[in-house]
Amino acid sequence: MAKVKIIMDREKCIGCGSCVAVCPVNWEIKDDGKSKPKKTELNEVGCNEKAAQVCPVQCIKIEKA
Ligand code: SF4
Repeated sequence: MAKVKIIMDREKCIGCGSCVAVCPVNWEIKDDGKSKPKKTELNEVGCNEKAAQVCPVQCIKIEKA
């Protein structure tokens, strides 16, 4: 079972790209201009923690089991 779950509220995302800048391994901007995590279930939080911190609208939440 995954140890880390990424929950993102795409409604709130303003497409600033900060999450992609600090964590390109798991974040990308999609065609609608908003970002999206490539994986939402991971074994380690890695740079996703940073992505959640830098998001100006705080729409990235990380759940640790
Ligand atoms: S940092 Fe937040 S608002 Fe900016 S693109 Fe990422 S999820 Fe969207």
